[in-house]
Amino acid sequence: MRMLALVLTLLLGLPVLGNEPARLDLGGSALVATGRGWGGPPPLELRLSLTAPVPFGAFLVGDPARLVVDLEGADLGAARPEDLFGANLVPAIRWGRHEGRWSRIVVELPGPYRIDSAGQWPGAQSSDLRVRLRPVAAADFAPRSSAALRGLPDPVPLDPPAPDGPLTVMLDPGHGGFDPGALAEGESEANLVLVFALELQAALRDRGVDARMTRQDDSFVALDQRMTAARQARADLFISLHADALPEGQAAGATIYVWNPAADRRAAEQLALHHGRRDLVAGADLTGQDDALAGVLMDMARTDTQPRSELFARWLTSRMALSGLDMHPRPVQPGTYVVLKSPDIPSVLLELGFISDHDDRANLLNPAWRERMVRAVADAAAGWARDEAARTGRLRQ
Ligand SMILES: [Zn+2]
Repeated sequence: MRMLALVLTLLLGLPVLGNEPARLDLGGSALVATGRGWGGPPPLELRLSLTAPVPFGAFLVGDPARLVVDLEGADLGAARPEDLFGANLVPAIRWGRHEGRWSRIVVELPGPYRIDSAGQWPGAQSSDLRVRLRPVAAADFAPRSSAALRGLPDPVPLDPPAPDGPLTVMLDPGHGGFDPGALAEGESEANLVLVFALELQAALRDRGVDARMTRQDDSFVALDQRMTAARQARADLFISLHADALPEGQAAGATIYVWNPAADRRAAEQLALHHGRRDLVAGADLTGQDDALAGVLMDMARTDTQPRSELFARWLTSRMALSGLDMHPRPVQPGTYVVLKSPDIPSVLLELGFISDHDDRANLLNPAWRERMVRAVADAAAGWARDEAARTGRLRQ
Protein backbone atom coordinates (compact mmCIF):
# COMPACT_ATOMS: atom_id res chain seq x y z
CA MET A 1 0.00 0.00 0.00
CA ARG A 2 3.03 2.24 0.28
CA MET A 3 3.03 2.70 -3.46
CA LEU A 4 -0.66 3.38 -3.50
CA ALA A 5 -0.26 6.12 -0.93
CA LEU A 6 2.57 7.65 -2.92
CA VAL A 7 0.61 7.82 -6.12
CA LEU A 8 -2.42 9.10 -4.33
CA THR A 9 -0.47 12.12 -3.20
CA LEU A 10 0.81 12.59 -6.71
CA LEU A 11 -2.50 12.47 -8.42
CA LEU A 12 -4.28 14.61 -5.88
CA GLY A 13 -2.03 17.39 -7.11
CA LEU A 14 -3.43 17.08 -10.62
CA PRO A 15 -5.73 20.00 -11.38
CA VAL A 16 -7.89 17.67 -13.40
CA LEU A 17 -8.83 15.82 -10.21
CA GLY A 18 -11.32 18.08 -8.53
CA ASN A 19 -14.00 16.90 -6.19
CA GLU A 20 -15.95 15.61 -9.14
CA PRO A 21 -15.50 11.85 -9.29
CA ALA A 22 -14.19 10.47 -12.55
CA ARG A 23 -17.05 8.77 -14.35
CA LEU A 24 -16.82 5.58 -16.35
CA ASP A 25 -17.85 6.05 -19.95
CA LEU A 26 -19.25 2.62 -20.76
CA GLY A 27 -19.55 3.43 -24.47
CA GLY A 28 -15.82 4.10 -24.73
CA SER A 29 -14.87 1.07 -22.66
CA ALA A 30 -14.44 -2.51 -23.82
CA LEU A 31 -12.92 -5.88 -23.24
CA VAL A 32 -11.24 -7.01 -26.45
CA ALA A 33 -9.32 -10.04 -27.66
CA THR A 34 -6.05 -8.69 -29.05
CA GLY A 35 -4.94 -11.87 -30.78
CA ARG A 36 -5.70 -15.53 -31.36
CA GLY A 37 -5.78 -18.06 -28.58
CA TRP A 38 -4.25 -20.93 -30.55
CA GLY A 39 -6.53 -23.47 -28.87
CA GLY A 40 -6.56 -21.68 -25.53
CA PRO A 41 -8.00 -18.39 -24.33
CA PRO A 42 -6.90 -15.32 -26.35
CA PRO A 43 -4.82 -12.38 -25.13
CA LEU A 44 -7.17 -9.77 -23.71
CA GLU A 45 -7.18 -6.04 -23.14
CA LEU A 46 -9.47 -4.25 -20.72
CA ARG A 47 -10.01 -0.65 -21.84
CA LEU A 48 -11.71 1.73 -19.46
CA SER A 49 -12.62 5.23 -20.55
CA LEU A 50 -12.92 7.62 -17.60
CA THR A 51 -13.71 11.34 -17.52
CA ALA A 52 -10.48 12.00 -15.58
CA PRO A 53 -7.36 10.06 -14.56
CA VAL A 54 -7.59 8.26 -11.23
CA PRO A 55 -5.17 6.40 -8.99
CA PHE A 56 -5.55 2.73 -9.76
CA GLY A 57 -4.10 -0.69 -9.10
CA ALA A 58 -4.31 -3.89 -11.15
CA PHE A 59 -3.45 -7.39 -10.04
CA LEU A 60 -4.40 -11.03 -10.49
CA VAL A 61 -5.88 -13.45 -8.01
CA GLY A 62 -6.39 -17.19 -8.35
CA ASP A 63 -9.08 -19.83 -7.76
CA PRO A 64 -10.60 -18.97 -10.16
CA ALA A 65 -8.21 -16.76 -12.12
CA ARG A 66 -9.44 -13.18 -11.92
CA LEU A 67 -8.18 -9.72 -12.84
CA VAL A 68 -8.87 -7.11 -10.16
CA VAL A 69 -8.74 -3.40 -11.00
CA ASP A 70 -9.16 -0.95 -8.14
CA LEU A 71 -10.03 2.66 -8.93
CA GLU A 72 -9.92 5.55 -6.49
CA GLY A 73 -12.58 8.21 -6.77
CA ALA A 74 -14.23 6.69 -9.83
CA ASP A 75 -17.98 6.54 -10.19
CA LEU A 76 -19.06 3.43 -12.05
CA GLY A 77 -22.61 4.80 -11.86
CA ALA A 78 -25.48 2.70 -12.93
CA ALA A 79 -23.49 1.03 -15.72
CA ARG A 80 -24.01 -2.73 -15.73
CA PRO A 81 -20.95 -4.93 -16.25
CA GLU A 82 -22.84 -7.23 -18.61
CA ASP A 83 -23.34 -4.22 -20.92
CA LEU A 84 -19.57 -3.75 -21.35
CA PHE A 85 -18.64 -4.46 -24.95
CA GLY A 86 -16.84 -7.82 -24.97
CA ALA A 87 -18.21 -9.01 -21.63
CA ASN A 88 -19.09 -12.28 -23.35
CA LEU A 89 -15.36 -13.07 -23.78
CA VAL A 90 -15.05 -14.00 -20.13
CA PRO A 91 -17.12 -16.08 -17.69
CA ALA A 92 -18.14 -13.06 -15.59
CA ILE A 93 -17.48 -9.40 -14.81
CA ARG A 94 -18.54 -7.73 -11.59
CA TRP A 95 -18.01 -4.25 -10.24
CA GLY A 96 -19.08 -2.04 -7.42
CA ARG A 97 -17.97 0.04 -4.51
CA HIS A 98 -15.11 -1.47 -2.60
CA GLU A 99 -14.14 0.57 0.44
CA GLY A 100 -14.17 4.29 1.04
CA ARG A 101 -13.64 6.07 -2.26
CA TRP A 102 -12.46 2.91 -3.96
CA SER A 103 -14.34 0.96 -6.58
CA ARG A 104 -13.38 -2.50 -7.70
CA ILE A 105 -13.74 -4.27 -11.04
CA VAL A 106 -13.36 -8.04 -11.05
CA VAL A 107 -12.98 -9.87 -14.37
CA GLU A 108 -13.21 -13.63 -14.13
CA LEU A 109 -10.73 -14.96 -16.67
CA PRO A 110 -11.17 -17.95 -19.01
CA GLY A 111 -7.79 -19.37 -17.91
CA PRO A 112 -4.44 -18.45 -16.38
CA TYR A 113 -3.05 -15.08 -17.53
CA ARG A 114 -0.38 -12.61 -16.67
CA ILE A 115 -0.53 -8.82 -16.73
CA ASP A 116 1.58 -7.75 -19.69
CA SER A 117 1.19 -4.05 -19.07
CA ALA A 118 -1.12 -1.58 -17.41
CA GLY A 119 -1.19 2.14 -17.83
CA GLN A 120 -3.27 5.27 -17.99
CA TRP A 121 -3.28 7.83 -20.80
CA PRO A 122 -4.83 11.09 -19.66
CA GLY A 123 -6.28 13.15 -22.53
CA ALA A 124 -8.06 16.48 -22.68
CA GLN A 125 -11.58 15.10 -22.41
CA SER A 126 -11.07 11.64 -21.03
CA SER A 127 -8.52 9.29 -19.59
CA ASP A 128 -7.92 5.82 -20.97
CA LEU A 129 -6.87 3.05 -18.65
CA ARG A 130 -5.65 -0.14 -20.26
CA VAL A 131 -4.71 -3.50 -18.80
CA ARG A 132 -3.19 -6.03 -21.22
CA LEU A 133 -3.41 -9.70 -20.33
CA ARG A 134 -1.53 -12.56 -21.91
CA PRO A 135 -2.55 -16.21 -21.44
CA VAL A 136 0.10 -18.36 -19.76
CA ALA A 137 0.54 -22.03 -18.87
CA ALA A 138 -1.02 -22.99 -15.54
CA ALA A 139 2.46 -23.44 -14.07
CA ASP A 140 3.34 -19.84 -14.97
CA PHE A 141 0.25 -18.31 -13.41
CA ALA A 142 1.44 -16.09 -10.58
CA PRO A 143 -1.53 -14.51 -8.86
CA ARG A 144 -0.92 -11.33 -6.89
CA SER A 145 2.50 -11.12 -8.45
CA SER A 146 4.66 -8.46 -9.97
CA ALA A 147 4.31 -9.83 -13.47
CA ALA A 148 4.05 -6.35 -14.95
CA LEU A 149 7.42 -5.57 -13.47
CA ARG A 150 9.27 -8.60 -14.75
CA GLY A 151 12.92 -7.72 -15.24
CA LEU A 152 12.73 -4.56 -13.18
CA PRO A 153 14.82 -4.02 -10.10
CA ASP A 154 13.97 -5.23 -6.63
CA PRO A 155 13.81 -2.73 -3.84
CA VAL A 156 17.14 -2.97 -2.07
CA PRO A 157 18.84 -1.24 0.81
CA LEU A 158 20.73 1.57 -0.87
CA ASP A 159 24.20 2.71 -0.02
CA PRO A 160 24.03 6.08 1.72
CA PRO A 161 23.89 8.98 -0.73
CA ALA A 162 27.15 10.74 -1.40
CA PRO A 163 26.20 13.92 -3.27
CA ASP A 164 29.78 15.15 -3.56
CA GLY A 165 31.37 11.72 -3.88
CA PRO A 166 33.01 10.33 -6.98
CA LEU A 167 31.13 9.35 -10.10
CA THR A 168 29.85 5.80 -9.72
CA VAL A 169 29.72 3.71 -12.87
CA MET A 170 28.35 0.16 -12.97
CA LEU A 171 30.01 -1.91 -15.68
CA ASP A 172 28.01 -4.89 -16.82
CA PRO A 173 29.92 -7.50 -18.81
CA GLY A 174 27.15 -9.46 -20.54
CA HIS A 175 26.47 -13.18 -20.17
CA GLY A 176 28.72 -15.44 -18.04
CA GLY A 177 28.59 -18.83 -16.36
CA PHE A 178 26.47 -21.32 -18.27
CA ASP A 179 25.63 -18.53 -20.74
CA PRO A 180 28.74 -17.91 -22.87
CA GLY A 181 26.93 -15.48 -25.18
CA ALA A 182 27.97 -15.60 -28.83
CA LEU A 183 30.77 -17.96 -29.88
CA ALA A 184 33.20 -17.77 -32.80
CA GLU A 185 36.56 -19.35 -33.60
CA GLY A 186 37.00 -20.70 -30.08
CA GLU A 187 36.27 -17.34 -28.42
CA SER A 188 33.27 -16.58 -26.23
CA GLU A 189 31.53 -13.22 -25.92
CA ALA A 190 31.24 -13.67 -22.15
CA ASN A 191 35.02 -13.90 -21.80
CA LEU A 192 35.90 -11.12 -24.27
CA VAL A 193 33.59 -8.58 -22.63
CA LEU A 194 34.83 -9.56 -19.15
CA VAL A 195 38.44 -8.93 -20.19
CA PHE A 196 37.43 -5.56 -21.62
CA ALA A 197 35.34 -4.63 -18.55
CA LEU A 198 38.22 -5.37 -16.17
CA GLU A 199 40.52 -3.14 -18.20
CA LEU A 200 37.90 -0.40 -18.34
CA GLN A 201 37.33 -0.67 -14.59
CA ALA A 202 41.05 -0.18 -13.94
CA ALA A 203 41.19 2.85 -16.27
CA LEU A 204 38.15 4.45 -14.63
CA ARG A 205 39.55 3.85 -11.14
CA ASP A 206 42.79 5.54 -12.22
CA ARG A 207 40.66 8.61 -12.92
CA GLY A 208 39.02 8.51 -9.50
CA VAL A 209 35.76 6.98 -10.74
CA ASP A 210 34.06 4.47 -8.45
CA ALA A 211 33.81 1.76 -11.12
CA ARG A 212 32.02 -1.44 -10.14
CA MET A 213 31.14 -4.63 -11.96
CA THR A 214 27.99 -6.73 -12.06
CA ARG A 215 30.28 -9.76 -12.36
CA GLN A 216 34.02 -10.06 -11.72
CA ASP A 217 34.48 -13.54 -13.13
CA ASP A 218 32.86 -16.16 -15.31
CA SER A 219 29.68 -16.46 -13.26
CA PHE A 220 26.05 -16.21 -14.22
CA VAL A 221 24.17 -13.09 -13.08
CA ALA A 222 20.46 -12.70 -13.88
CA LEU A 223 19.44 -9.55 -15.76
CA ASP A 224 17.38 -8.12 -12.94
CA GLN A 225 20.25 -8.67 -10.52
CA ARG A 226 22.49 -6.61 -12.79
CA MET A 227 20.05 -3.69 -12.54
CA THR A 228 19.61 -4.23 -8.83
CA ALA A 229 23.38 -4.04 -8.34
CA ALA A 230 23.43 -0.66 -10.09
CA ARG A 231 20.55 0.57 -8.00
CA GLN A 232 22.10 -0.65 -4.79
CA ALA A 233 25.36 1.14 -5.58
CA ARG A 234 23.41 4.30 -6.49
CA ALA A 235 25.24 4.17 -9.79
CA ASP A 236 25.23 7.38 -11.84
CA LEU A 237 25.69 5.44 -15.05
CA PHE A 238 25.19 1.85 -16.21
CA ILE A 239 27.19 0.46 -19.13
CA SER A 240 26.38 -3.03 -20.40
CA LEU A 241 29.13 -4.53 -22.55
CA HIS A 242 28.52 -7.04 -25.32
CA ALA A 243 30.08 -8.47 -28.45
CA ASP A 244 27.24 -10.46 -29.95
CA ALA A 245 27.14 -12.33 -33.23
CA LEU A 246 26.46 -10.05 -36.17
CA PRO A 247 22.74 -10.03 -37.01
CA GLU A 248 21.92 -10.90 -40.62
CA GLY A 249 22.43 -7.94 -42.90
CA GLN A 250 23.86 -5.64 -40.25
CA ALA A 251 27.12 -3.79 -40.63
CA ALA A 252 29.92 -4.54 -38.20
CA GLY A 253 31.50 -2.04 -35.81
CA ALA A 254 30.69 -0.68 -32.38
CA THR A 255 27.02 0.04 -31.78
CA ILE A 256 25.38 1.76 -28.82
CA TYR A 257 21.86 0.95 -27.76
CA VAL A 258 19.72 3.21 -25.60
CA TRP A 259 16.24 2.41 -24.36
CA ASN A 260 13.50 2.99 -26.93
CA PRO A 261 10.82 4.95 -25.15
CA ALA A 262 8.61 5.55 -28.19
CA ALA A 263 5.57 3.72 -26.94
CA ASP A 264 5.18 5.19 -23.49
CA ARG A 265 6.85 8.56 -23.94
CA ARG A 266 3.75 10.66 -24.51
CA ALA A 267 1.82 9.40 -21.53
CA ALA A 268 4.79 9.76 -19.28
CA GLU A 269 5.56 13.30 -20.35
CA GLN A 270 2.00 14.36 -19.81
CA LEU A 271 2.06 13.17 -16.23
CA ALA A 272 5.57 14.45 -15.62
CA LEU A 273 4.42 17.97 -16.47
CA HIS A 274 2.71 18.05 -13.14
CA HIS A 275 5.40 16.58 -10.97
CA GLY A 276 9.02 16.72 -10.15
CA ARG A 277 10.56 13.71 -11.80
CA ARG A 278 13.55 12.41 -9.92
CA ASP A 279 11.77 12.48 -6.59
CA LEU A 280 9.09 10.20 -7.95
CA VAL A 281 11.14 7.06 -7.79
CA ALA A 282 13.03 7.95 -4.66
CA GLY A 283 11.88 5.41 -2.13
CA ALA A 284 9.25 3.90 -4.38
CA ASP A 285 8.54 0.26 -3.69
CA LEU A 286 8.92 -1.12 -7.18
CA THR A 287 7.79 -4.62 -6.38
CA GLY A 288 4.76 -3.54 -4.43
CA GLN A 289 1.57 -5.21 -5.40
CA ASP A 290 0.28 -2.23 -7.28
CA ASP A 291 1.96 -3.16 -10.51
CA ALA A 292 0.11 -0.72 -12.69
CA LEU A 293 0.97 2.20 -10.46
CA ALA A 294 4.58 1.23 -10.45
CA GLY A 295 4.48 1.07 -14.23
CA VAL A 296 3.25 4.64 -14.45
CA LEU A 297 5.96 5.78 -12.07
CA MET A 298 8.61 4.05 -14.13
CA ASP A 299 7.53 5.80 -17.30
CA MET A 300 7.53 9.16 -15.60
CA ALA A 301 10.99 8.67 -14.20
CA ARG A 302 12.30 7.57 -17.56
CA THR A 303 11.37 10.88 -19.18
CA ASP A 304 14.16 12.37 -17.09
CA THR A 305 16.62 9.51 -17.50
CA GLN A 306 16.25 9.00 -21.24
CA PRO A 307 17.90 12.23 -22.42
CA ARG A 308 20.79 11.59 -20.03
CA SER A 309 21.30 8.10 -21.53
CA GLU A 310 21.19 9.63 -25.01
CA LEU A 311 23.70 12.29 -23.99
CA PHE A 312 26.14 9.62 -22.85
CA ALA A 313 25.62 7.76 -26.14
CA ARG A 314 26.57 10.95 -28.02
CA TRP A 315 29.66 11.39 -25.86
CA LEU A 316 30.62 7.81 -26.67
CA THR A 317 30.24 8.17 -30.42
CA SER A 318 32.18 11.42 -30.46
CA ARG A 319 35.07 9.93 -28.45
CA MET A 320 35.12 6.77 -30.57
CA ALA A 321 35.09 8.84 -33.77
CA LEU A 322 37.98 10.96 -32.49
CA SER A 323 39.95 7.79 -31.78
CA GLY A 324 39.23 6.41 -35.23
CA LEU A 325 37.49 3.33 -33.81
CA ASP A 326 35.28 1.30 -36.15
CA MET A 327 31.65 2.16 -35.66
CA HIS A 328 28.41 0.97 -37.17
CA PRO A 329 27.19 3.48 -39.82
CA ARG A 330 24.28 4.29 -37.49
CA PRO A 331 26.14 3.97 -34.18
CA VAL A 332 23.32 4.87 -31.77
CA GLN A 333 20.20 2.77 -31.99
CA PRO A 334 17.02 2.30 -29.96
CA GLY A 335 16.79 -1.02 -28.15
CA THR A 336 14.49 -2.76 -25.74
CA TYR A 337 17.03 -4.76 -23.76
CA VAL A 338 15.90 -5.43 -20.20
CA VAL A 339 19.08 -4.01 -18.68
CA LEU A 340 18.31 -0.63 -20.26
CA LYS A 341 15.04 -0.32 -18.37
CA SER A 342 16.23 1.15 -15.07
CA PRO A 343 13.90 4.07 -14.53
CA ASP A 344 16.36 6.35 -12.80
CA ILE A 345 19.85 5.31 -13.93
CA PRO A 346 21.10 6.45 -17.36
CA SER A 347 21.98 3.21 -19.16
CA VAL A 348 23.51 2.15 -22.45
CA LEU A 349 24.34 -1.19 -24.00
CA LEU A 350 27.61 -1.03 -25.93
CA GLU A 351 28.27 -3.67 -28.56
CA LEU A 352 32.03 -3.31 -28.70
CA GLY A 353 31.96 -5.11 -32.01
CA PHE A 354 30.64 -8.40 -33.30
CA ILE A 355 32.42 -11.59 -32.42
CA SER A 356 31.33 -13.24 -35.65
CA ASP A 357 32.95 -10.50 -37.76
CA HIS A 358 36.59 -11.21 -38.53
CA ASP A 359 37.84 -7.63 -38.07
CA ASP A 360 35.78 -6.94 -34.96
CA ARG A 361 36.97 -10.18 -33.37
CA ALA A 362 40.58 -9.35 -34.16
CA ASN A 363 40.07 -5.92 -32.55
CA LEU A 364 38.61 -7.43 -29.39
CA LEU A 365 41.59 -9.76 -29.10
CA ASN A 366 44.07 -6.94 -29.68
CA PRO A 367 45.27 -5.27 -26.42
CA ALA A 368 46.23 -2.06 -28.27
CA TRP A 369 42.73 -1.73 -29.78
CA ARG A 370 41.16 -2.43 -26.39
CA GLU A 371 43.29 0.28 -24.83
CA ARG A 372 42.01 2.83 -27.38
CA MET A 373 38.42 1.74 -26.80
CA VAL A 374 38.87 1.79 -23.02
CA ARG A 375 40.21 5.35 -23.26
CA ALA A 376 37.28 6.40 -25.47
CA VAL A 377 34.72 5.03 -23.02
CA ALA A 378 36.49 6.50 -19.98
CA ASP A 379 36.80 9.91 -21.71
CA ALA A 380 33.11 9.76 -22.61
CA ALA A 381 32.16 8.99 -18.99
CA ALA A 382 34.24 11.91 -17.77
CA GLY A 383 32.80 14.31 -20.35
CA TRP A 384 29.28 13.18 -19.63
CA ALA A 385 29.79 13.59 -15.88
CA ARG A 386 30.98 17.18 -16.45
CA ASP A 387 27.82 17.92 -18.45
CA GLU A 388 25.70 16.35 -15.71
CA ALA A 389 27.43 18.38 -13.03
CA ALA A 390 26.87 21.57 -15.00
CA ARG A 391 23.22 20.64 -15.47
CA THR A 392 22.51 19.82 -11.86
CA GLY A 393 24.86 22.36 -10.34
CA ARG A 394 26.43 19.46 -8.54
CA LEU A 395 30.19 19.51 -8.23
CA ARG A 396 32.29 16.44 -8.27
CA GLN A 397 35.71 16.17 -6.82
ZN1 LIG B 1 25.57 -10.29 -25.71
